[in-house]
Amino acid sequence: MTSRVALVTGGTGGIGTEICKTLANNDYRVVASWLSGVDDGEAWQAKLKEEGYDFAIAEGDVSDFESAAAMVKKAETKVGPIDILVNCAGITKDSFMHKMKHDQWDAVLRVNLDSVFNVTRQVIMGMRNRGFGRIINISSVNGQKGQIGQANYSAAKAGMHGFTMALAQESAKKGITVNTISPGYIATSMVAEMGEKIVNKMIEQIPVGRLGQPEEIARVVEFLAADESGFITGANIAINGGMHMG
Ligand code: NAP
Repeated sequence: MTSRVALVTGGTGGIGTEICKTLANNDYRVVASWLSGVDDGEAWQAKLKEEGYDFAIAEGDVSDFESAAAMVKKAETKVGPIDILVNCAGITKDSFMHKMKHDQWDAVLRVNLDSVFNVTRQVIMGMRNRGFGRIINISSVNGQKGQIGQANYSAAKAGMHGFTMALAQESAKKGITVNTISPGYIATSMVAEMGEKIVNKMIEQIPVGRLGQPEEIARVVEFLAADESGFITGANIAINGGMHMG
């Protein structure tokens, strides 16, 4: 039984929704962040209410420092100080490097990497003062091994783990753990958008022989979030069906 509060950025997305549900199923109070104009957080909240979940939501653009600050303020007003932060918001804008436009690079770096600074910066002092925190950064297998057409995404996701390792060292004596999860290909709209042909080609490269499920990421988030997981910090946990080992 826990009374801890968790903020999940990108909480309305495919993986984020399962993270929210799994944390709520384990008695965390959960607030999901969402981005107005792209998603309908209120519709998401209402739908999940029908499934029996009572999630708070806080709107904001995590790629923008001021917007992220306002989002965290809204979240804390609704549910209280954040004990667990899951940095899950992310986008892709794929292109070969020789064709990549600056705005494709910029958007992907801002949403996937700057966001980690923008949101973590809002909660880290409170965690230090209270002597407890869990920060879980959702990176990608492509941050570990690189991927054709994803110089922007691979750089941003690799950067997330550099952030994890530095902050883990800074925060270790304050009861705060910082870890990365690097999912392989997971069955969400982000992967579906790649098209059936490419997805089937990807599956051929996965020894387990299928896409992962969002629940398979969520259960590791819940594991890392637990009070009992205080000795795991600075780790990068791969969940990729054997696609990349190392
Ligand atoms: P998704 O369904 O597209 O969810 C992404 C979430 O991020 C959405 O809630 C989205 O909100 C939010 N978001 C995007 N830009 C934002 C911004 N500027 N401010 C605030 N929120 C923003 O994708 P997913 O598959 O669940 O991916 C979740 C995370 O896992 C991402 O970081 C992704 O890179 C990572 N990942 C996914 C896979 C995979 O195979 N699916 C594999 C490895 C890593 P809107 O809907 O409002 O845009």
